[in-house]
Amino acid sequence: MKNVFGWSAGEISNELAEWKLPPYRGKQIAEWMYRKGVLSFKDMTNLPKDLRERLAGHYGIFRAACLDRQDSSDGKTSKFLLGFADGTAVETVLMRQPYGNSICVSTQAGCNMGCAFCASTLHGMERNLTAGEILAQAIHIQEVLREEAPGQKVDTMVIMGSGEPLMNYDNVLSFLRLCHEDYVMGMGYRNITLSTSGIVPNIYRLMEEDLPVTLSISLHAPNDALRSRLMPVNRKYPLAGLIEAGKAYGDRTKRRVTYEYILIDQVNDGEEQARELVSLMRGQLASVNLIPINPVVERNLYRPSGQRVDWFEKYLAEHHVAVTVRREMGADIQAACGQLRNQHME
Ligand code: SF4
Repeated sequence: MKNVFGWSAGEISNELAEWKLPPYRGKQIAEWMYRKGVLSFKDMTNLPKDLRERLAGHYGIFRAACLDRQDSSDGKTSKFLLGFADGTAVETVLMRQPYGNSICVSTQAGCNMGCAFCASTLHGMERNLTAGEILAQAIHIQEVLREEAPGQKVDTMVIMGSGEPLMNYDNVLSFLRLCHEDYVMGMGYRNITLSTSGIVPNIYRLMEEDLPVTLSISLHAPNDALRSRLMPVNRKYPLAGLIEAGKAYGDRTKRRVTYEYILIDQVNDGEEQARELVSLMRGQLASVNLIPINPVVERNLYRPSGQRVDWFEKYLAEHHVAVTVRREMGADIQAACGQLRNQHME
């Protein structure tokens, strides 16, 4: 049975074209699924009864089942393990920030990019997620929020969970377009950040789509030797070309590009690296987001002291680099990407 969850109103109308339905039926069905959270065609009460029965005989609405949920002790972060019909499971995180509810969605089950500091890649990649499976994560959390308090909603979204979104380009693009639709979530592109490990050709491709999505680049090292050690993708797309692509994206979209920089004790937190980072950022519409690492015991990577983090931040700021430090959220619930899923795989 075909799953219609993840189809746009237009795609539903096209699929049903041979039933000779008026085109607005596609939008009605989509609104029921996405806006009202209906999981059965039988409950779509503004459709004729015979159409509802016919739909139910041919199609299904399959979303995601919540397999696990962990809430941080301060109540600000909730992490969900969501499972799909074939047994694949991914993590989705809700962060209740002072500026609104932010979610982090996954785009692949696992990941094969091999970043040294990342738990999502320890078991490789299982498969790409479809647009509907990425959307199912966002809709699940939207409903959790609505149940908590009427009027609550997902305000911002980061595509930064497991997987490299630009290696699942078409599905991620369909997802972006879908969640922007009013009959789905009405999410403004400016409220979405897409994070990449640096798939340079697809950064340019995304730039050409003319969607004002904010780009975040996982940098994590300021020179090729260290970056190639931490992130194998750097061997294919070295730093110079990546920084050039980031600059082009910022210039074209007028959106400030964020460079994520995980601070790892004795690995990339020294004075030389700070100096190199400053010189990479020169002339860019960009900011650096420092993230003290959530230790990955399997890889012997540890967090620098608070003093070291402060020093690194100050060094960048003094050299006119826009810099923030990501305050820790949810460390007590294994919020580092991939850790909850791995726990369920063991
Ligand atoms: S950091 Fe991102 S790209 Fe790198 S292995 Fe983890 S999920 Fe994949």
